[in-house]
Amino acid sequence: MKAAHSVSDLVASGLMTPEAGAAVAGVAERYAVALTPYLLETLAGAPEGDPLHAQYIPSPEEAYTAPSERADPIGDHAHSPVKGIVHRYPDRVLLKPLHACAVYCRFCFRREMVGPGGEALSPVELTAALDYVRAHGEVWEVVITGGDPFLLSPRRLAEIVGALAEIGHVGVVRLHTRVPVADPARVTPELVAALKTDGLASWVAVHVNHAAELTAEARAALARLADAGIPLLSQTVLLKGVNDDAAVLEALFRALVRNRVKPYYLHHPDLAPGTSHFRPSIAEGQALVKDLRGRVSGLCQPTYVLDIPGGHGKAPAAAAWIAEDGTVEDFQGNRHRYEP
Ligand SMILES: *Cc1c(COP(=O)(O)O)cnc(C)c1O
Ligand code: SF4
Repeated sequence: MKAAHSVSDLVASGLMTPEAGAAVAGVAERYAVALTPYLLETLAGAPEGDPLHAQYIPSPEEAYTAPSERADPIGDHAHSPVKGIVHRYPDRVLLKPLHACAVYCRFCFRREMVGPGGEALSPVELTAALDYVRAHGEVWEVVITGGDPFLLSPRRLAEIVGALAEIGHVGVVRLHTRVPVADPARVTPELVAALKTDGLASWVAVHVNHAAELTAEARAALARLADAGIPLLSQTVLLKGVNDDAAVLEALFRALVRNRVKPYYLHHPDLAPGTSHFRPSIAEGQALVKDLRGRVSGLCQPTYVLDIPGGHGKAPAAAAWIAEDGTVEDFQGNRHRYEP
């Protein structure tokens, strides 16, 4: 099976009717569409209303941009000192070597920046980005994101990771990717080996939103990373109609921990254009997070976060457990007085 890069490919694959395809023609002109052969096959056997479907198949609802939505929802541009670098927090930077992804998620927070037309950093630009990190001794962690860095060849990944390892003040490289669940066969032993180097610790954060994404192939890809000694984290976007349900989140976080992935962040969806149909309210998110406390162990608890629009960074979004009157709520909803 070939990858899908357009609505007509999705119609040809049988995942959309011609009528449904016609209804999203305008949406697909504005926001990139792509599914890997692996996902096309996974979806071909999935029932209507499948949690993967809504994440990847364009919907007419994307045509509506809510007044609060913006092209750069988390203010990347405001904090980009050189092309490919976002430096918002003192001790860490984002490095974005490319803008392409294996798949295009319908709720993507960088949907106005990622896409097949978005070029990779040229060798000169990459050198300049690495020079920036080298010149900033306060940068301890480099988060390689994009786009999806796992689309780079193992040779190019090894070059970037190796260059960072030579910068004495950089202790950690973290790669953010959707490839283990979007194109698991791409996580080859060569790619895994390319992530590891002496001189720094490599971590991988995988973007997963539903336990159904952890197929046998995806679990095997995660195992290749974990067996190589790479610590794994997850990022999940809280999405209406996909995972805004405590039982669904419980199943996801258990499955992640079972596969040696520590749930790291549960993101409240950013104000990306054409995504309001995916966004629950913060109060709904807080209720789900509270419910999870009583359902799963601490290993399975991510931090619920909101990226503050405008580039002010992330803020924990869970409701307070300790009230202003000094009482503390337990996992069953009972309040207790705490007297130090
Ligand atoms: C999210 C983000 C990071 C990483 O933040 P952590 O809380 O350390 O995961 C770093 N830089 C920017 C610009 C970010 O948006
Ligand atoms: S993989 Fe990440 S960056 Fe790429 S489309 Fe999905 S959410 Fe956006």
